Order: sequence, then structure tokens, then C-alpha cells
Amino acid sequence: MAVLDKIVIANRGEIALRILRACHALGIKTVAVHSTVDRNLKHVAMADESVCIGPAPATDSYLNVPAIIAATEVTDAVAVHPGYGFLAENADFAERVEQSGFIFIGPRPETIRLMGDKVSAIKAMKDAGVPCVPGSDGPLPEDAQECLRIARQVGYPIIIKASAGGGGRGMRVVHTEAHLNTALQLTRQEAQTSFGDATVYLEKFLETPRHIEVQVVADQHGNAIHLGERDCSTQRRHQKVIEEAPAPGITQQQRDEIGSACVEACKRIGYRGAGTFEFLFDGGRFYFIEMNTRIQVEHPVTERITGVDLVREQILVAAGDTLSHRQEDIQIRGHAIECRINAEDPETFMPSPGLIEGFHAPGGPGIRMESHIYDGYRVPPNYDSLIGKIISHGEDRDMAIARLRVALDEMVLNGIKTNVPLHKWLLWDRGFLKGGFNIHYLEKRLEERQG
Ligand code: ADP
Repeated sequence: MAVLDKIVIANRGEIALRILRACHALGIKTVAVHSTVDRNLKHVAMADESVCIGPAPATDSYLNVPAIIAATEVTDAVAVHPGYGFLAENADFAERVEQSGFIFIGPRPETIRLMGDKVSAIKAMKDAGVPCVPGSDGPLPEDAQECLRIARQVGYPIIIKASAGGGGRGMRVVHTEAHLNTALQLTRQEAQTSFGDATVYLEKFLETPRHIEVQVVADQHGNAIHLGERDCSTQRRHQKVIEEAPAPGITQQQRDEIGSACVEACKRIGYRGAGTFEFLFDGGRFYFIEMNTRIQVEHPVTERITGVDLVREQILVAAGDTLSHRQEDIQIRGHAIECRINAEDPETFMPSPGLIEGFHAPGGPGIRMESHIYDGYRVPPNYDSLIGKIISHGEDRDMAIARLRVALDEMVLNGIKTNVPLHKWLLWDRGFLKGGFNIHYLEKRLEERQG
């Protein structure tokens, strides 16, 4: 593993710190690249070197490809870790990194491209035997009559999706045939303007699914394993709020089946690194919706129940090592839950950046906090409002919840508004305590609370 001795961390916030810790634990030097407003980030202070790559707006700094490549060159680093968000799923960036002679810590650019286009991703998954949502086989044709026929065959309600879409954009639900044509035209137009690609497809709209995803990791020697699933059904506006593992009610047999299908798919597409297969789960069945070709915010819940350090694995695999674990070594122990702490108003959900005046992290058995904040740190208004995550672990779900409640009560975080009160409320909510609810549950409870 001697080749990988210095890594550029092309990200910010809690994930940049997480990557830095993994690098340093492996004896790898780090380069923090940051924007002008991020000089005071914790990982910038801890990194072996740091380079300012541009002003606050992400387009000028964290998305500034030439600046990141230049920083990698001048610091003599050998690899780039993209974290999540920003350039993490940008195939052109991964390609630029590799063409410049560096290692991209993630899948091959072709894989990112394949999975970034929804139509090609679904085709690849179908071919590999991963269950997908029933729908049009590939892009919808221009012919309106033909589209009507396809939609009728799938059965309403259906959802039209832009093949190049992402971040919850470029999708439209259609409940009756009368609305299909207009919806198709609108989605195509939007897809063209937003993503520069008017290709759309349709699939059955599942009305009350759960969101369950499978974590995988693969090396460059044809080995791949899965690390079980996570339930991320606690969402607001398609944004995950709480994640847990294992998913309540999922049997070992279901886990083995869906996990094996994902592993097979990884082997088939020559996947490399950590990745997540996202599924909607409805009526006891899994339906693939997309693959995230990067580390995810919620990776620690899987780490807690399996003992695998996913970021370490990403780095080792990128360096050419074989996976540290075999499938038969992976055992699930207990239950883990993660609360995303956002700098936002807990009632209106408006961002609440500003100065942190007083911060004490929680601790104790089974509690892990991932955060870059500290007393006196100013949360800038320019980026995502995620300022940290508390992950609790217990022998079972009840114990994990009990420990998480104590942790939230114990934490001191003053000066800015956060969604901590929302988490405290949810962790006593009867439906939440039961578990296994669908992706609309949180929004429904928020509406009830208001009304
Ligand atoms: P994006 O890439 O924009 O995140 P996804 O395909 O992952 O798009 O879908 C985002 C969300 O939209 C899902 O988490 C789910 O809530 C909803 N969704 C997507 N496809 C369907 C479907 N077939 N039925 C019901 N809801 C869906």
C-alpha cells in the first residue's frame, strides 16, 4: 500500500474530516483543498497541507476541477477522495483525475457514467438480475400513441423520469391517462433545460414504499461483498433525516437474496470501491431505483453493525489491495441509528447558518458523533446545512433509540438553530418506535402536528 502516500480531500465539512481520520489512521498524508470561507474548518487545521482553491461559491471552489487538479499536482499527492456531493459522481471529473495521472478513490469513470444515466443503469441492473420497478423497457419513444400503450400496460399511477435526472428533480407522477401527454411534454422539456438530455422513461409509481438500500464494496480483483441494508424511509422532501440498520422486519433470507443480487451486479459491471444500491421496498419486494457510486452520508450505521471501516476500505481498494473481508466474515451485530444534524429551523426548515456559541459533543457507550463543528465555529451560508451526525448503537433497536435520546439531550449546541428538537420529537413518536413505515410517514406526521 506504499504507493498511496498522500491524498487530496476534495470536499468539506464532516465527510472531509472523516476521510482525513481514515487517511491518518493508515499513515497517509492529507491535503485539504478548501474555499476562502472554509479556512477555519477542523480538517484544514489537521491536514498535513492545505490549498485554497477558490472563493465561497461551490462552482468556484469545490466544483472547480482545474483548481483541484492543480492542487493535487503542486502538493505531489497521488490520489483524490471526492467524498459525497460536489464532484463525487461526476464521471468527467474522475476521468480528468485519472488522465492527470492520479488515482480517483471511487469507481471507474465508465461505471459512474453508466450508473449516472438512469436508463442505462436500469438496463445494466436488469441484465444482472437485480429486481427493478416495472416500466417502459428503456427510453420512451416519441410516438404519443405508443407511450399511451406502454403506460396502460404498466398501469396507473406511473412516474415519468428524466434519464439524466438527479436530486429528486426531473420526475412527474401521472394518475390518469388524460394527463399523460402533457406530463410527458413537460418532463421532456424540463429534462432538456435542466440536464441537456430530453430522454425520459416511465415506471410504475409505488404509492407507499419504504426506502431500503444495500451497501456494497468491491476491489479491483473481481471481489465484491455486501454489508446488509439500511432503512432510510424517514425523509422530508426526498431528503433523508434518520437512517438505521438493519431495516426493521427484513429477514436474513431477504438480506442474503438482495445482497447477493447486488454483489453479482458489482462483479458484472466491474464495480470498484464503495457503493449503494437504492431500492423501494413494497409488498415484501425490492425494486431498484438507482445506484450511488460513492460513500454516503449514512455509511456509519453500516459500520456500526458490521465493524467494517468503509472509508478505509475505499482507500485500500483504490490502492489496489484486495478486500479486507470475505462475505462469510460479515455479521450483523445489534442495531444502529443515525440522526442528521442540520443547521436549520426545526419548524420552518429554513437554513440557520451562523456562529456556534457553545458546543459539547455527546458520548457514552454506543455513541459516535461525526462532526466538524466546534465552539466558535461559524457555519457558512454557502453550503449544505448538514453540520454533523450522531450515530447510536445498541443490542437492539430499542436500546439504540434510548441511547440516541440520551445523546441528543446531552449535546450542547448553541448559537444557531438546529433540527435537534425534531429528532427528539421523532424518537418518541409511536409510529417511529414501531418502525417499518413508508417514505411519506415523516411528512404526514409533520402535517398532523401543524394541523
Ligand atoms: P433522484 O436520482 O432524483 O434522487 P430517484 O430515482 O432516486 O431520483 O428517486 C427519488 C425519489 O423519488 C425516491 O426516493 C422516491 O421517493 C421517489 N420515487 C422514485 N421512483 C419512484 C417510483 N417508481 N414510485 C414511487 N416513488 C418513486
